[in-house]
Amino acid sequence: MPLSGFAIPSASHLIAGEWTSAASTLTLTNPSDGTDITSIARGTAADVDAAVTAAKTALTGPWGQMTATERGRILSRLGQLILTRTEDLAQLEARDVGKPITQARADAVALARYMEFYGGAADKIMGETIPYLQGYTVYTLREPHGVTGHIIPWNYPMQIIGRSVGAALAMGNACVLKPAEEACLTALAFAALAQEAGLPAGALNVVTGLGAEAGAALSAHPGVNHLSFTGSVGVGTLIQTAAAQNVVPVTLELGGKSPQIVFDDADLDRALPFLVNAGIQNAGQTCSASSRILVQRGVYAKVRDRMAAAYTALTVGPALTDPSVGPLISARQKQIVAGFLDQGRDLSIAAQGKIVENAPSAGHYIAPTLFDNVPPNHPLAQQEIFGPVQVLIPFDTEEDAVAIANGTEFGLVAAVWTRDGARQMRLSKALHAGQVFINNYGAGGGVELPFGGTGKSGHGREKGFEALYGFSTLKTVATWHG
Ligand code: ADP
Repeated sequence: MPLSGFAIPSASHLIAGEWTSAASTLTLTNPSDGTDITSIARGTAADVDAAVTAAKTALTGPWGQMTATERGRILSRLGQLILTRTEDLAQLEARDVGKPITQARADAVALARYMEFYGGAADKIMGETIPYLQGYTVYTLREPHGVTGHIIPWNYPMQIIGRSVGAALAMGNACVLKPAEEACLTALAFAALAQEAGLPAGALNVVTGLGAEAGAALSAHPGVNHLSFTGSVGVGTLIQTAAAQNVVPVTLELGGKSPQIVFDDADLDRALPFLVNAGIQNAGQTCSASSRILVQRGVYAKVRDRMAAAYTALTVGPALTDPSVGPLISARQKQIVAGFLDQGRDLSIAAQGKIVENAPSAGHYIAPTLFDNVPPNHPLAQQEIFGPVQVLIPFDTEEDAVAIANGTEFGLVAAVWTRDGARQMRLSKALHAGQVFINNYGAGGGVELPFGGTGKSGHGREKGFEALYGFSTLKTVATWHG
């Protein structure tokens, strides 16, 4: 039983602290070999309504009355509990998402880290006093939105639960979580662990099911006071439209086409692993994947050849064999990525990784591909692929690099590789992105670092203290005392 070790009955939602079984179910399959893993509940609008009601009720009970310090203690306890279960969580995630086991283990540790961070931060968010007219005292209060809806994707369930549900609970919201239909086991396991850590009933509810059913019902529910969504631009647009009908705030973390810019003076030995890993991690199914590598002409051939050598050494295979690259999440995703590779048939390929010979034929494997000398306006250099595909783009000057880097509709992450300090400062300001990395990419994922996009990459920030502001609302209190 894949869920053994976690107290989760199959095909159930968690609503008001109770596992409630569903009339209708969906099957989860293992992307590494196409086998069935288990059944999950196919949530309906009625299930979502029950979950929102449970969350609302929790806000009027012990959860709503709890001090910030006590909320923090529960989250910290949950972090400790997760640390004792990282291997079990990683095994679930590897089977459910097809994520190479080492990467799945890192995600489980990150989930614990989010709970530790937000556990510690819960009672450190303060208002301010504002000097005002004679006879007044004015101060601000940071208060929870109320019921927060969290619609998350399948690529990094644990990390995204950590950064959105963790921050929302720290601020005292009550959450309804709708994981992706392709991968929701760790969301259910997380909820079970949260109960074990002492989270009161209804503070976190999980409804599984299809996006167009449970997801749409949650985003349109008038009882939801804030929505956070991570996923595609298309669905993000639907969520924001639904939120507009109820006039509720939305945090959207959508796609990206994130560049790394390599100048002639870069430390190539340091850059090389980042250039490749940022494109192939989680088989490129990462919002902040670096799918564009911009290289100054003087080192272009050297960077291409070294990246090509790294690609040739990549292994692609089942998640539990811990390859460099696992399968894609689904047959549909494989078809989408294959379609992009087909659009690149007019381009030359610098190198491809190899699918291991004994890879199960029902797994969704695709060879990682590095394209050479790609025009910046080519579809492969403009559209998010969400697969292990990177394009190399040569450039001449700093101005060219900035124009190319900023020349897509996205703006999530960017990296600059140069030893020139003044150039580092100029580019950190010139690049359109929510995060800019100098001589690194991703900074190890830091839960402390605010994250989010500009343009079609979305708006709002998760992670760090910034998320706590997003998951709360500000009240100004003005007292006239004469
Ligand atoms: P992807 O294209 O990577 O599968 P999606 O953006 O389609 O990502 O899905 C991300 C999340 O959004 C999932 O939990 C999915 O169920 C949900 N979702 C999909 N369609 C809708 C919709 N119409 N309304 C609300 N949620 C949706």
